[in-house]
Amino acid sequence: MRLIFIGPPGVGKGTQAERVSKHFGIVHLSTGDILRAEIKTQSPIGRQAKTYIDQGHLVPDDILLTIMEHYLQRPECAQGYLLDGFPRTIPQAEGLDRLLRQTEQSLDAVINLTAEDEELIQRLLRRGKTSGRTDDNPTVITKRLEVYRKLTQPILGYYEKQGLLKTVYGAGSIPEITNRILKVLM
Ligand code: ADP
Repeated sequence: MRLIFIGPPGVGKGTQAERVSKHFGIVHLSTGDILRAEIKTQSPIGRQAKTYIDQGHLVPDDILLTIMEHYLQRPECAQGYLLDGFPRTIPQAEGLDRLLRQTEQSLDAVINLTAEDEELIQRLLRRGKTSGRTDDNPTVITKRLEVYRKLTQPILGYYEKQGLLKTVYGAGSIPEITNRILKVLM
């Protein structure tokens, strides 16, 4: 099973991705987590990524495509995977399609998690108090939402055309939302 999770910052993608990947026994690949790990070890990619992330900008597509190409070739991904945070732009979605074609693979579904902006902002501000994430502050949150609308939302249409898109409302209790996701995947 190969799944993609798309959604604005704060929608609970990471939480739900963790639960859904466990349910299906597939690998959970979070590009946010991968990039933060690179930053922690101060690798060349991490050093480049930090300046973008701290401003709420996206890390350049070629960096993400290089990272994902590498990860998707890992043996544990042969059983399937759930991508959380990638693709985030049309060029990334096209790049992923190229990688899939090369290996004669295809996606099973793309989950679009949604919630109202006010809810997202509240959640991110709350998370900022404990997450230690440098990008969970009011100025950067506003920027991330703007970037989401401009660069990421267009990929919803891209996957809609491929008949893969399933939209799930992301407000409610954590288990309730997981059930909604599992239901649209049945
Ligand atoms: P959120 O979904 O809450 O914004 P993530 O942990 O998914 O958080 O991502 C944090 C940051 O990492 C993003 O704001 C962006 O700068 C960078 N990032 C993650 N995935 C990508 C991607 N696919 N393309 C470009 N930048 C990315």
